[in-house]
Amino acid sequence: MTGTTLDDYTDRYARRVRGMTASEIRALFAVASRPEVVSLAGGAPYIAALPLDAVGEMLGRLASEHGTSTLQYGIGQGTLDLRERICEVMSLSGIDVGCGASPEDVVVTVGGQQALDLVARLFLDPGDVVLAEGPTYVGALGVFQAAQAQVVHVPMDADGLVPEALEQAIAEVARSGRRAKFLYTIPTFQNPAGVTLTEERRERVLDICERAGLLVIEDDPYGQLSFDGEAPAPLRSRRRDGVFYLSTFSKTFAPGLRVGWILAPHAVREKLVIASEAQILCPSAYAQAAVTTYLSSMPWREQLKTYREVYRERRDALLAALTDYMPAGTTWTEPQGGLFVWATLPEGLDSKAMMPRAIAARVAYVPGTGFYADGTGTGNMRLNFSFPPPERIREGVRRLASVMEQETAMRQVFGSLGATSGRRRGQAGADAPGPDLA
Ligand code: PMP
Repeated sequence: MTGTTLDDYTDRYARRVRGMTASEIRALFAVASRPEVVSLAGGAPYIAALPLDAVGEMLGRLASEHGTSTLQYGIGQGTLDLRERICEVMSLSGIDVGCGASPEDVVVTVGGQQALDLVARLFLDPGDVVLAEGPTYVGALGVFQAAQAQVVHVPMDADGLVPEALEQAIAEVARSGRRAKFLYTIPTFQNPAGVTLTEERRERVLDICERAGLLVIEDDPYGQLSFDGEAPAPLRSRRRDGVFYLSTFSKTFAPGLRVGWILAPHAVREKLVIASEAQILCPSAYAQAAVTTYLSSMPWREQLKTYREVYRERRDALLAALTDYMPAGTTWTEPQGGLFVWATLPEGLDSKAMMPRAIAARVAYVPGTGFYADGTGTGNMRLNFSFPPPERIREGVRRLASVMEQETAMRQVFGSLGATSGRRRGQAGADAPGPDLA
């Protein structure tokens, strides 16, 4: 096949591949990771906060002393040892035996991302509708797009997903003769919005989904990263049926190990294992042993506290810098945990159009459009605070604010030439209500 170009393959692609394009985040990583750029893009945990020497020693011993099992194939569902530890971790947030959580119903996955992909493989036919918060996790959008499903966004406000908007979206989908299979939600410290679904709304959202016969996919990578008291208990701790709980060790330990899990309703668990075996045979025995050993013999609860403290300080630095530097008309969310702040720009500024100038000014963020399936979000950006240290965050926001001021000045001089497509935040299509995330 020498001499072929990418275009020669175009008419051979499967239909599901045709809409695949690089996410905004992916395209940005190359430039954003240059050392002179303050990157508020990405979502990397601050791995330097781990006791790396001790972790390294543990990893070495796993190979030298236990290599005959840790470097061998394993079983598709994941090791029982790890599934038991996962149940211990979930019980910290209220998902315990009382609500039917058992190692038998846990499936270990390659990060939270494979968990999402498995759920999509199990439930989505081309043309099915997925309801998801608007904005939502970019990696979930990629999975749903690959499954040829259609995402209908449901707006949020500062209290998370708006229950009335969910009811409205369910009714609209039904009226159009389509079938919504599930609600995909990140109720706690949402990526990218940083908001959390309130206690009261959790019950309402569950009731609405139950009445509509909608499954709930609860994605919870951030629930244990709370800064100001405990997060509300997960949806899964309130209902045992109809809720799939997905999580990962990527944010509480290390994403490099790629270990996540699904707690599935018992009836479905076997199908998930079969689907996972078809995809990956089994999750890495070595990575599973690393997480199991970490959870059984290292001070992981202390580490969680360390992560929380580091991120709380950085969240505070970001919020203070936004208050000090952002031009009038900018608003932002105030997360109580997780890794992200969602900012809404003054009327007329376009975060995507502004990106090259921001990079030239040595600051990076993710334009809001990456988090919607429909091109909405030009008036928004996601800002990450977990990775850069506080003083870099402050400098990044200072640079960003000056880029925004220049953009605004240019708009005033050149009118619409300086700027924007005119699409505003939260317009999920032409007629849906916009989120008020501020
Ligand atoms: N879900 C959400 C909401 C996420 O933010 C992420 C990671 N950024 C994932 C899933 C995927 O997690 P992992 O890195 O464990 O695959």
